[in-house]
Amino acid sequence: MDIKTVGVIGAGTMGNGIAHVMVKAGYNVVLVEAAQAALDRGVQTIGKNLEREVSKNKISAGDRDAALARIEPVLQRSAVAKCDFVIEAAFEKFEVKQEIFADLDKYCRPEVVLASNTSSISITKIAALTRRPDKVIGMHFFNPVPVMKLVEVIRGLATSDETFAVTRDLAVKLDKTPVEVNDAPGFVSNRVLMPLINEAIYAVMEGVATPEAVDEVFKLGMAHPMGPLTLADFIGLDVCLDIMRVLLAGLGDPKYRPCPLLIKMVDAGWLGRKSGRGFYKY
Ligand code: NAD
Repeated sequence: MDIKTVGVIGAGTMGNGIAHVMVKAGYNVVLVEAAQAALDRGVQTIGKNLEREVSKNKISAGDRDAALARIEPVLQRSAVAKCDFVIEAAFEKFEVKQEIFADLDKYCRPEVVLASNTSSISITKIAALTRRPDKVIGMHFFNPVPVMKLVEVIRGLATSDETFAVTRDLAVKLDKTPVEVNDAPGFVSNRVLMPLINEAIYAVMEGVATPEAVDEVFKLGMAHPMGPLTLADFIGLDVCLDIMRVLLAGLGDPKYRPCPLLIKMVDAGWLGRKSGRGFYKY
């Protein structure tokens, strides 16, 4: 199927990034939000980020204007009826996705692929909410979307080869690198990254090293661009805790037990960059 118009549900951190790369690649985007203020903020952010690319001579002012003109911001979910592919990037709560996917299944043509940008919710479970489980897939972008090359493309139990191919080809057209992964808690990225971050927090809690020292080891010894605790502050410690809980619940192995210091910091409201304090002060 020829994809011309893509529905993006949610205009937050990830949704506006996804809409940004879609319109830059020439797709029309129907950007759907639940709240007018969030919709306005999302469109403004796309404008600001495209402007930055103009100032760095990566795109022309004409390209920016054309990209912005391809966005149709809406509050009515039924507007996805005209879309040829839809990706959901709303809150990471199963009940929210449940309600959205029921509507997408109702409004979208039967051949349209419905993707989710979820970081941890089962694609198989989301797919089972619809009458087209073969056309439901995970399309997991990374933050900041315009910069990060990876897209984890996650096959649910029922996802068809055709759906996988459509999604993979779309990622390539966005100038991203798709990597195929099967549905399992945390997929590959968070299954491997979060236990690393959790273990780094144990090292701090047990007095093995300071956060600075742990991060230095990973930057200089493993050539990571940032250490695991700086990265945890960037992701949000509440998000890290939620993902550890998903891994523990889904895989049942005590090795995924969230570090008590991580729980304590989240209880204190020390959530990282977004709250001004995490392992570092901002
Ligand atoms: P966010 O809170 O920044 O944005 C979510 C947006 O969805 C909000 O603007 C909210 O108003 C909107 N929304 C909520 N319910 C809605 C509904 N019913 N209809 C339309 N819009 C609705 O969250 P985010 O960080 O952009 O995360 C979005 C999704 O992407 C989550 O599933 C998350 O797990 C996943 N994800 C996040 C990251 C990250 O680094 N932030 C990375 C990869 C994947």
